[in-house]
Amino acid sequence: MLTDPVTHVKGVGEKMGEDFSHIGIFTVEDLFNYFPYRYDVFEIKPLSELVHDDKVTIEGRVVHDPSLTFYGKQKSRLTFTLEVEQIAVKAVMFNRSFAKKHIFKGEIITLVGKWDAHRLQITVNTYKKGPASQQDEMQPVYPARGELSSGKLKKVMKQALASYSDAIGEILPTTFLTAYKLPTRKEAYQTLHMPTSRIALKHARRRLIYEEFLVFQLQMQLLRKWKREATVGNAQDYNRKLVKEFIDTFPFTLTSAQQGALEQILTDMQSPYRMNRLLQGDVGSGKTAVAAICLYASVTAGKQGALMVPTEILAEQHYESLDKLFGGRANIALLTGSIKGKKRKELVEQIYSQQIDIVIGTHALIQEDVQFSELGFVIVDEQHRFGVEQRRTLREKGLSPDVLFMTATPIPRTLAITAFGDMDVSIIDQMPLGRKEIETYWVRETMLDRVLQFVGSRIQTGEQAYVICPLIEESDKLDIQNAVDVYHQLRAYFPETVEIGLMHGRLTTEEKETIMKKFANNEVHLLVSTTVVEVGVNVPNATIMMIYDAERFGLSQLHQLRGRVGRGEKQSYCILIADPKGETGKERMRIMAETTDGFALSEQDLQLRGPGDFFGKKQSGLPEFKLADMIHDYRALETARQDAAKIIQDGLLETKEYALLSKYVENKFQVDEKLD
Ligand code: ADP
Ligand code: MG
Repeated sequence: MLTDPVTHVKGVGEKMGEDFSHIGIFTVEDLFNYFPYRYDVFEIKPLSELVHDDKVTIEGRVVHDPSLTFYGKQKSRLTFTLEVEQIAVKAVMFNRSFAKKHIFKGEIITLVGKWDAHRLQITVNTYKKGPASQQDEMQPVYPARGELSSGKLKKVMKQALASYSDAIGEILPTTFLTAYKLPTRKEAYQTLHMPTSRIALKHARRRLIYEEFLVFQLQMQLLRKWKREATVGNAQDYNRKLVKEFIDTFPFTLTSAQQGALEQILTDMQSPYRMNRLLQGDVGSGKTAVAAICLYASVTAGKQGALMVPTEILAEQHYESLDKLFGGRANIALLTGSIKGKKRKELVEQIYSQQIDIVIGTHALIQEDVQFSELGFVIVDEQHRFGVEQRRTLREKGLSPDVLFMTATPIPRTLAITAFGDMDVSIIDQMPLGRKEIETYWVRETMLDRVLQFVGSRIQTGEQAYVICPLIEESDKLDIQNAVDVYHQLRAYFPETVEIGLMHGRLTTEEKETIMKKFANNEVHLLVSTTVVEVGVNVPNATIMMIYDAERFGLSQLHQLRGRVGRGEKQSYCILIADPKGETGKERMRIMAETTDGFALSEQDLQLRGPGDFFGKKQSGLPEFKLADMIHDYRALETARQDAAKIIQDGLLETKEYALLSKYVENKFQVDEKLD
């Protein structure tokens, strides 16, 4: 059985068993899932095709017995000449004096190593006596850990496969194997550990990656289904006619992307299941407008709504714009930490008695003494700032309203369907018509003077600017110093009439809010800041976003910052000051200057930085796959997602053909109980 302890494999004793336990291998199955990280390919190419400095394989006849020289402390160098295609090639082997006893004149030998095309010399990593036969074409190389060398692992794996490969039973229904031309599970494991050809290896990987994704997607989608079904009974019977009338009062028509998202949300609201949906859309794509409509719909269904935002200033801004938009259709209230005493008490009472329909505020809204009588709909803006905790709070309060998370950080689809696999996702991927594009420029530091001149001239005409200094992760101090330095530089550069504000992470929340308010009121013209410039803050008069050392930011972050401008009628500018050293850095600056589509950028960002960095180190929350790579194997992921959806929709897991898969998924749930 695959669940046998790994020590049951021939050749694995107590000691080795312990070594295995240190790397999380306890059973035979664990062992099989310890995959090679690469394969040495013994593929012979003509000498003329070998690339300098590449790892190559050559085969030839040893011309004379190797000569061995010792140097330093226990260091040695073995050299010999090899005749390859009638050309003399020099072979060098370091610190392997014992090989002298294995390699003899006249023998055919295969060498793998680094090629020096100028000297016709190979620095040998691996050698094999005899020609490079077909059999040996690919050799797995395992990540070595302590005593467990790759070679040892290879031997153990061979033994294990000999005794246990028959125990590797199929879990996928035959229809899948046929449709996707996949090898069986057993074949796939065998090939991965002992590949016979590149083609076979490719298909084996394809098979296991698909399986990994399918199982993962089945788990996610089952969770989603269970969560929904656990909360039957909160259908919101909203009034279509009133909602339509409300939309008709807007000074614009909804884009079709807005309409699509709205329909999805309204459908969820009407259903008896609890909504758990993510609404993504670039800054300015009109998420708030959609949110307002949904809040109103909930009110027409006799419910209350709440909008949670990350900061007080944002809450105030949202409150003002929504209050205007609603034009008295609903009673809207603002509830933040600075509303205190009698006023607050009154508000809380009104919320409880449902005299208030919609509350806008910071997370204090749901955490404190506030009790709703009919909470039906909650919107959480900039969800990456909230997350699991707040969801839990709601649940603990015994509330199960429909929940909509909104974010302006476009999350690549790839990540969205994995990281948020248990959520539904709506996307607004279209900007309202007639929006002026922000002009983005990448300039070198040597151009700083001209940039400042330009900034000065815009400020002269009454516009405002943000100046962002990078976050230096390792050191808060440096970080602030950076912003302080820039502040002083700019203070010296601009005339006294230009008001300059400074904001950084060491300020208290109140200090930050004060400065932001001054900026919002145009009492501060130029705001120097580390990245604490609040997400979502709306200062339409700010037309310039200038970013120092822009290469230090991720593309998504830059895009987010850029979204702080371009919110008014006037033409806005984003100026990236950067002297990136590497090609990647330059490429990123170019991409920023050329692309204003947040989704395209986030995809690029993901490609350039990898999924771990995308969400930041702390809160990656991304699943780990053994073999699969979310980015590289994206298409398999998408296929698996669709297949999983169909399997669940059609209730196939209960059928006989899917029994083994179903059992496997069930076991998997027990293994990773940590899910939610
Ligand atoms: P987001 O919340 O996605 O950043 P908002 O909903 O705040 O975007 O919309 C940004 C601006 O665009 C607001 O001034 C809003 O009134 C306006 N707006 C929203 N939808 C449309 C539309 N379909 N056509 C024109 N303007 C729109
Ligand atoms: Mg918004």
